[in-house]
Amino acid sequence: MALFGGKTEVKKGDMFYAWTTDSDIAKKAECGGAVTSLLKYALENKMVDAVLAVKRGADIYDAIPTIITNPKDLGNTAGSLHCGTLLTSKLVKNYFDGAKKQKLGIAVKGCDLMGILELAKRGDINLDNLLMIGVNCGGTVSPVTARKMITEKFGVDPNKVTKEEIDKGQFIIEYEGGHKGIKIDDLEDEGYGRRSNCRRCLYKIPRQADLACGNWGVIGDKAGKATFVEVCSDKGADLMSKAVKAKVVEVSAPEPKGIEIRGKTENAMLKLGQKWRQKDFSAISENLWEVIAEETGRCIKCYTCIEKCPVCFPVADMLKKDSPMIRRGVVPADPMFHLRRFAHISDSCINCGQCEELCPMEIPLALFGNAIREEADRAFAPKLGPSKYSN
Ligand SMILES: Cc1cc2nc3c(=O)[nH]c(=O)nc-3n(C[C@H](O)[C@H](O)[C@H](O)COP(=O)(O)OP(=O)(O)OC[C@H]3O[C@@H](n4cnc5c(N)ncnc54)[C@H](O)[C@@H]3O)c2cc1C
Repeated sequence: MALFGGKTEVKKGDMFYAWTTDSDIAKKAECGGAVTSLLKYALENKMVDAVLAVKRGADIYDAIPTIITNPKDLGNTAGSLHCGTLLTSKLVKNYFDGAKKQKLGIAVKGCDLMGILELAKRGDINLDNLLMIGVNCGGTVSPVTARKMITEKFGVDPNKVTKEEIDKGQFIIEYEGGHKGIKIDDLEDEGYGRRSNCRRCLYKIPRQADLACGNWGVIGDKAGKATFVEVCSDKGADLMSKAVKAKVVEVSAPEPKGIEIRGKTENAMLKLGQKWRQKDFSAISENLWEVIAEETGRCIKCYTCIEKCPVCFPVADMLKKDSPMIRRGVVPADPMFHLRRFAHISDSCINCGQCEELCPMEIPLALFGNAIREEADRAFAPKLGPSKYSN
C-alpha cells in the first residue's frame, strides 16, 4: 500500500505530517492527534499491555499521570498540558514494575525520556518492553507561576482560562471573553514563563524515543491540523507503518520548508538553552559552595528531592538512621547531606527540575544539580573544553 508519492514502507529517519482519522481524538488533540491515535492503535492491537499518559485533572494547570488499559479511555489524554510539570519515568519503575513483565506504551517529553534511560542503565526499567512516543518540548510552566503570570501580566482571572498553548514563541490563553498571547521572552525577562530548568534544557526533540512528535515544521494547509512525526527506531517505523495501513492515521510528506523551519527552531531553542545556562551558572559560579550552604539552610528534611529524583537512590534505610550527616529530629539537614547528594547525582542529573519544583522550601536544587553536572561533564570529558561558567 502506498503511503504517499509511491512510498510504501516506513523506516528510521523518515519524517511525516500525520493526522488522526478519529474525529473525537481530532477535537481534543493538540495538533494532528497522531500521538493519541498511535498509542490507541498499539493498545488495541496488543503491541502494548497498557499506556502511561497524562490527562487534565481539576483544571488546565493540573496534569495527572494515568495508566490506561481500555483503548476507549485514551481520548481523555489528548492535548498538551504545558503547566504539567510532572516526570513520568520514575512512575514506570514504581508503579509498573519497570515494565519488566508487561509492555507499556508511553508519551515522553525529553526529561521523561532521559529519566527512563537513566533508570534502564541501572536495571530498573526494561527498554525492550517500552514503546516510547516522544513529544517535542520547549518547556513547561509551573502551575503556581502560570496562575500568577495570567493574573498579573494577562490581567485575566486564571480560573476563567479554558485553554493555554505555547505557539510561535508566545504563551497564549483562551478565556471567557477572548484570547491573549504574550511573547515568552518578554515574560521571562520579567521573571515569569517557563521553569528555570526548562529554560536551560538542551533536549527539545526526543530522538531516543521510537517516534518524535511535535508541531514545529507543520506549515501550509496542515498547520495546526497535523503532527510532525520523525521516525527514530525500527519499533517506531513498525508502529507507523501498521497504523497507516490500518488507516488509523493518514500521512503526507512534510514540506521541505517545514523541515528547514523545524531545524532552525530547534537550533534557536538550543542556543537559548545555552544562554540561560550561561546566565544562571555564572550567577553562582564564584561562590557555589557558599550559595549551596546558605540556600540549603532552609531544608526541612522532607526528602522529596530524593523521592522524586529519577537518578538518586538512598542506600537502604540511610534516611532512617542517625548519622553525622543525618541527625534525626534536627533541622536543617547538615550541608554535607546535600553535598553528598549532589556528588551522587553529579554524573547523571538530567535537569528535570523535579527536586526544585517540589521542594516546599523553594531551594533552587535543580540549578545546583545542573551546574555541578555541567562541571563534572567538563572535568571528565576534556574534549568539551573548560567550563564557560567558572573562573
Ligand atoms: C509541555 C509540552 C511542551 C511542548 N512544546 C513543544 C514545542 O515547543 N515544539 C513542538 O514542536 N512541540 C511541542 N510539544 C508537543 C506538541 O504540543 C504535541 O504534543 C505534539 O505535536 C503531538 O501532537 P498530537 O496532536 O499528536 O498529540 P495528542 O494526540 O494531543 O497527544 C498529546 C500527548 O501528550 C501527552 N502530554 C500532555 N501533556 C503532557 C505533559 N505535560 N507531560 C508529558 N506528556 C504530556 C498526553 O498524555 C498525550 O499522550 C509540547 C508538548 C508538551 C506536553
